[in-house]
Amino acid sequence: MTRSITILGATGSIGASTLDLIRWERDKWDVKALTANCSAKELAALAIEFDAELAVVGDETCLPDLREGLSGTSIQSAGGSQALCEAAALGADVTVAAIVGCAGLAPVMAAVEQGKTIALANKEALVSAGDILMDAVKRHSATLLPTDSEHNAIFQCLEGNDLADVRWITLTASGGPFRTWSHEQLAEAKREQALKHPNWDMGAKITIDSATMMNKGLEFIEAWHLFPVGLDRLRIVVHPQSVIHSMVEYRDGSTLAQLGPSDMRVPIASCLAYPERMDTACRPLDLPTIGELSFFAPDEDRFPATKLAREAAVAGGAAPAVLNAANEVAVEAFLKGNATFTQISAIVARTLDKELPRAPTSLDEVLAVDAEARQLAMTMLEPA
Ligand code: NAD
Ligand code: MG
Repeated sequence: MTRSITILGATGSIGASTLDLIRWERDKWDVKALTANCSAKELAALAIEFDAELAVVGDETCLPDLREGLSGTSIQSAGGSQALCEAAALGADVTVAAIVGCAGLAPVMAAVEQGKTIALANKEALVSAGDILMDAVKRHSATLLPTDSEHNAIFQCLEGNDLADVRWITLTASGGPFRTWSHEQLAEAKREQALKHPNWDMGAKITIDSATMMNKGLEFIEAWHLFPVGLDRLRIVVHPQSVIHSMVEYRDGSTLAQLGPSDMRVPIASCLAYPERMDTACRPLDLPTIGELSFFAPDEDRFPATKLAREAAVAGGAAPAVLNAANEVAVEAFLKGNATFTQISAIVARTLDKELPRAPTSLDEVLAVDAEARQLAMTMLEPA
């Protein structure tokens, strides 16, 4: 039996890993929609290769290029943010949410409203609109499968167990490329250095988030929504080899962990096949070659991002959405050379220090908070 799939953010790193798995199981999947922000040529080629029904670019100005790329085919095309939501609302059996940033929130919500399965990689959507999104998941009886490797690990370690028996959920963090750098070195960290992650090959934004440790901060908030054990039962441990993707300790003293290669195709495959398993061509875990696993407490003095995220979670209301928006602005500024590495967390902290908007109670209100926080964060950019 074939299942239908839509991939939001098909041209990105998660999108490519997902399509690689679909290629592997080509006869089992019927591709409904593929989306991208702009890379129209690439999107058109993928839509043709996978015989998609629809291809959508978020940036409408890229639609003519998409149409040109699809000319002579019967694949439908569309552009703009509303079209992204319409693609998400096609009701595919599985929608992979792999747009980066809060830009993915409205499409994720549109997918949730179909009451089908969503494989969620787009953590920023959950950070910005956690309660609202989780409420919608319940209301529409949707199945939200965590694709982020840590959350997928936790999800697997929780299966067959009761949340009430959980003593700790431990998120592992690689520590990023600057794990051992001093304050002085961090202040001088360059874009190219930050873009070189030691273990994972990912999109630019999440790679910078990994270097600042904001990725783990966002994941802390993500875990808090996905696995409601309470903030005081969530902790972070630095594990540079990225072999253990996360762990759950139960009240009897048992700790369950999920291990695997640093290959996002593994957690994505677990979502695509859920509740079954599928074959993948991923390199098996070779523990004797890896040799040693090590663990360290996070240093929030050098990497304040996890502290900022925890504080935003405790504050609740608009704070997580403000944290995320300010971080998106600051990371973009760093990538463009308009902020230094250490200014990223400083901009987030200063934005959170301002009077926060009212707690959002709807998707539109979250988007308004996001827009307001972006504006505020922009005012804090100084020439680097
Ligand atoms: P990426 O930058 O490689 O790809 C992002 C995709 O989203 C692209 O297809 C791009 O065209 C599209 N996109 C970007 N901005 C958009 C916009 N404004 N409107 C519509 N589409 C837009 O990013 P990625 O590394 O694949 O990450 C995607 C999401 O998955 C992020 O939320 C990230 O945190 C999460 N994630 C990624 C990894 C990883 O290994 N890459 C691991 C865990 C979680
Ligand atoms: Mg992760």
